[in-house]
Amino acid sequence: MPLTADLTVTPSPTPLDTGYAPELRLMRVRLLLVVGATFVIALFVGGGLVAFGVPGVGPLLAMLVRSAPTVATVALPVVFVLAIALVAWMARAVIRPAEQLAASRNDLGTLYESARSRALEDSLTGLANHRAFQEEFESLLALSIRHRLDLALLLIDIDDFKTVNDSAGHAVGDELLIEMGRILRNQLRSSDRVYRIGGDEFAILLPHTDADNARLVANRLLAACVEPRAAGEFRRGFAFSGGLTAAPTFASSRDQLLNQADEALYQAKRDGRCLVRIFDPATSKATLDIRVLNERSAAVADVLNGGGLWPVFQPVIDLRNGEVLAFEGLTRLPDGTPFRDPGVLFEAAEAAGRTYELDLACVTSILKGARTIDRRIGLSLNLSPRTLETPEFAPGPFVARLSMAGWEPAQVIIELTERDAVRDIDHLRRVLDRLRAAGLRIAADDVGAGNAGLRLLSQIHFDIVKLDLSRVQEGARRGTSLEVIRSLADLAARWGAMVIAEGLETADQLRLIRSLPIAAAQGYLLGRPAIVPDQRSIDLDALESGILGVTTETPSTGISEFERRVELRRAASRSA
Ligand code: GH3
Ligand code: MG
Repeated sequence: MPLTADLTVTPSPTPLDTGYAPELRLMRVRLLLVVGATFVIALFVGGGLVAFGVPGVGPLLAMLVRSAPTVATVALPVVFVLAIALVAWMARAVIRPAEQLAASRNDLGTLYESARSRALEDSLTGLANHRAFQEEFESLLALSIRHRLDLALLLIDIDDFKTVNDSAGHAVGDELLIEMGRILRNQLRSSDRVYRIGGDEFAILLPHTDADNARLVANRLLAACVEPRAAGEFRRGFAFSGGLTAAPTFASSRDQLLNQADEALYQAKRDGRCLVRIFDPATSKATLDIRVLNERSAAVADVLNGGGLWPVFQPVIDLRNGEVLAFEGLTRLPDGTPFRDPGVLFEAAEAAGRTYELDLACVTSILKGARTIDRRIGLSLNLSPRTLETPEFAPGPFVARLSMAGWEPAQVIIELTERDAVRDIDHLRRVLDRLRAAGLRIAADDVGAGNAGLRLLSQIHFDIVKLDLSRVQEGARRGTSLEVIRSLADLAARWGAMVIAEGLETADQLRLIRSLPIAAAQGYLLGRPAIVPDQRSIDLDALESGILGVTTETPSTGISEFERRVELRRAASRSA
């Protein structure tokens, strides 16, 4: 299994920065030659001037000219012309390699650009391909959400395309795809984006366009396709079916919009083809969800604008001596929000495309609440991959913000929750790399709870692995869960990652994890999330033998982190 191979992060080389050393060396040698030659010529000319100007030498030269006038009158201009030619040659010798270097740089640049655009281009139709669609959809959607602008998505699938292939041949099928590409390009505005995303499937993104206006555009495209031609294979025209949706009217997340457009497209196929359907929340399988989500999006905005989030801190205990190693900062909700718990708030924020804002709001409230924490103790902050992936997230200013709050990067841990799927693993790796380079440590959260965390573990190098112990208590499966925890702890230790067990609730569990290569632990047994963090160390032996029951006096903190996790997991298994 290539787990370990994937753990190292290799920065991708800049394509224009390599391979020029020999040319540069040659250029330097030639430059030296020119300087040398210029120096000799300057000596010659300067010497001549001095000779004519200095008493005694002038008469000597004059005598030379007088005694051998032919030699002098021929030799002096020849030497002069030769000197000029030499300078010109030398200058050319320097300039040419520089020109060649610039040309080869340009060539390489053009080559790189063309390779990149080829990778994003469909070779048959010349349209942008599926990969380009994924990239651009993401960024156009982010812009549309940020500036509250409409963005329509139209999915198109040619009708009965297989029949064309079967009856007229694959080459004619290809011709039809090219013709379709041509029509789409000619009929749309330059700001609209057209992609061939599969065999006979096309996607169109229409910025600043709502669903009704997009339907007009789609019908115009359909009219252009069905139009009979004077001659050729497609004399009788051809048809497609289309499915439409638009942000922010129907949804704000990429996956939801894609599902909606897909649903509408299949409705169009079911309704007889050669038509375009707009996504209809009233008949959609996901109607209820979308209505609820729309209400929740508004509620997310209320929470963010109201600024009522408040922090609690749960200790992470060093298993060698019972000292507090770090506090995990967690967020609690203000009263009166429609969200049952922070997990539901995060789900709604993800659907509304506001995870980044919510994560930063949580960090702000945690930094505020962490003022009283001893700076020798660490602080753990949860961030979603979605936040780290957004173009707005800049590692530099983020670290500066921590420093302004008095936190050295080395004392801060970023816990990467696998709440949301990772979309661009390479970008995520680069961002994490920059955070790590600034001194922060990166932790994988919830490892061992179902599939959570495991996939990320195979893709990213973590400094800390947090193992979820909540399954260890599950009766008959206890043995298996234990084995899983044991092997994960071994694996993490082999990678050099520090292991923290989380969800520790019983003295039994404490005894068990103290026998494993696990450095630290967190859980109700060791300390509940509290508004005012208790920074005193814990007597682990007493706790293990059951002498100590409750460790921390806990102010009312609303729903616990444990309950949040249980709730999230239940929600995940319900949707599965
Ligand atoms: P429907 O009306 O339901 O869309 O049916 P359809 O006949 O159009 O078939 P469908 O969209 O399900 O499948 C598209 C077919 O396109 C499948 C594949 O054989 C063919 N195809 C995929 N890529 C290419 C290609 O590059 N060139 C050609 N000529 N055919 C392709
Ligand atoms: Mg088709």
